[in-house]
Amino acid sequence: MQYPEPISKLIDSYMRLPGIGAKTATRLAFYTIDMDKDDVTAFAKSLVAAKEDLHYCSICGNITDEDPCSICRDKSRDQSTILVVEQPKDVMSIDRAQDYHGLYHVLHGVLSPIEGRGPEDLNIESLLKRLKTNTAVKEVIIATNATPEGEATAQYLARLIKPAGIKVTRLAHGLAVGSDIEYADQMTLMKAVEGRTEL
Ligand SMILES: [Zn+2]
Repeated sequence: MQYPEPISKLIDSYMRLPGIGAKTATRLAFYTIDMDKDDVTAFAKSLVAAKEDLHYCSICGNITDEDPCSICRDKSRDQSTILVVEQPKDVMSIDRAQDYHGLYHVLHGVLSPIEGRGPEDLNIESLLKRLKTNTAVKEVIIATNATPEGEATAQYLARLIKPAGIKVTRLAHGLAVGSDIEYADQMTLMKAVEGRTEL
């Protein structure tokens, strides 16, 4: 027996989410059908709002509903340091550790020859522009993940930035090779920021 079209469409939609297979998608679809109509409407609206009201900060590339984002607008933050991460969720992880009070820059990925991702596909151009126009920046901390691609990206950025006389450091201490910032606990992240080494 085939499901009525609205159900199979809903199952298909759930299956597009990461980590959700056919079985879970089917369970979620039937659960949704049983929900209050108001709850379903609110859920659908929050999906659309997340997509329509959020965009990338024109300065740092972080996800925000205002431009520039709250971090870039906050003049009480240390304007002399920019911490470079792969993804917006890394900003949340490091900022939650509360040991870092500088600025951020989100690359939206790492260099990956295998996946055909070069410097022009990352948010690098705007970082260089930022360093050129903002002379207050004295240090760039590169916090890409401890993967081969993350390392290669860190080295690449160091080569671009160091000639400008800006100190380039790398999170190293405490982060295991191959580990993701996203999954590191707060203590590990704090130690990683404190124990950064110069590139
Ligand atoms: Zn920003």
